Amino acid sequence: MSPVLETEEHKALRAAVAALGKRYGREYLTKVIAEKGHPDELWSEAAKLGYLGVNLPEEYGGGGGGITELSIVLEELGAAGCPLLMMVVSPAICGTVIARFGTEAQKQEWLPALADGTRTMAFGITEPDAGSNSHRITTTARPADTGGDDGWILTGRKVFISGVDIADTTLIVARTADARTGKLKPALFIVPRDAPGFGRRQIDMELTGAEKQFELTLDDVRLPADALVGDEDAGLLQLFAGLNPERIMTAAFAIGMGRYALSKAVAYARERTVWREPIGAHQAIAHPLAQAHIELELARLMMQKAAHLYDSGDDIGAGEAANMAKYAAAEACVKAVDQSVHTLGGNGLTSEFGLASLITAARVARIAPVSREMILNYVSHQTLGLPKSY
Ligand SMILES: Cc1cc2nc3c(=O)[nH]c(=O)nc-3n(C[C@H](O)[C@H](O)[C@H](O)COP(=O)(O)OP(=O)(O)OC[C@H]3O[C@@H](n4cnc5c(N)ncnc54)[C@H](O)[C@@H]3O)c2cc1C
Repeated sequence: MSPVLETEEHKALRAAVAALGKRYGREYLTKVIAEKGHPDELWSEAAKLGYLGVNLPEEYGGGGGGITELSIVLEELGAAGCPLLMMVVSPAICGTVIARFGTEAQKQEWLPALADGTRTMAFGITEPDAGSNSHRITTTARPADTGGDDGWILTGRKVFISGVDIADTTLIVARTADARTGKLKPALFIVPRDAPGFGRRQIDMELTGAEKQFELTLDDVRLPADALVGDEDAGLLQLFAGLNPERIMTAAFAIGMGRYALSKAVAYARERTVWREPIGAHQAIAHPLAQAHIELELARLMMQKAAHLYDSGDDIGAGEAANMAKYAAAEACVKAVDQSVHTLGGNGLTSEFGLASLITAARVARIAPVSREMILNYVSHQTLGLPKSY
């Protein structure tokens, strides 16, 4: 797949990350998953080479690039068969929010550590009764008003939060009461993994991935005042600043996975011969693979547009493009994986070829962080001006 709309630096970054991905490869991740471990070696090496923090400011140990560069890293690792899902969360959402809105002390404490991979942050917004409708979140943060303590007390529940077991802290979206109106508004809090009252239960998923998902309980979790990221009153703005990178990075995750599956199918279709010619000569096999390639390329174009808008500071324009990119990439990935599995016939379902588990993995991009339907709703309402049904 030849990258377009990229500078020489981008191409060099793509090639270097692809080489790193190739050194680890799918076999590495398969082993990590089988041993219920974490891809620590790859995470550390990617960090050491400057890839994990490529989007973070240089003065805090990052590469000084943007989501454009970070999405290249995730896409190429995915295309090599070893995507790092936590990149969507730790450097992309949490790193962005702290870099843009954190206090000086928060930046000093977190950004160099997120960039060099020594610390990781998870992100928790989803709740059992607030999935697609994040306006319904009920996790609350109230001021701890005892003995001159100006900290916070968090209460609530979260679900499907990835990587809480390995993350040093989780950036939790909670609500604080507006002192004037009493209305609840979102605010972001850094919650350490071992904070008293912060409980987690691993959710059994029918998903083969190195990252685990957790249900969280926040039972009067006491936090210091500086656990609040940025400004209590700018919660929504800060939240949106992190959500666009999340969508763009999910697109990168999906495109990488789609490319990986497609490359396996193409290699197989070139070789596998059951009649006179290899099966790739049959248009019934070749055309759907060609279509999958085209759709992945188109999705990448939209992802590049979204990343470009975001990196140039156009949060509003990036919102629409990031949603469209996530939609296009997830749909292209699901289709590419499905066709790839089919191309391998019975081998598509064997452990030896390892493609069938991607059928489930690809669906993650269709559901999270925002579902296909909610993006179609967004475009219907925001772009086309159609009325709302809910
Ligand atoms: C592997 C994985 C990792 C995740 N990691 C994280 C994480 O790290 N942090 C985090 O905060 N969350 C995480 N999530 C949660 C994810 O963001 C949610 O699953 C997603 O937002 C959908 O919410 P839900 O599952 O509650 O589905 P629901 O909101 O219950 O939706 C169910 C179905 O109804 C449809 N639907 C809902 N409302 C409408 C409507 N108005 N119109 C049309 N259709 C509608 C949806 O499209 C969907 O198909 C993760 C999820 C998964 C699967």
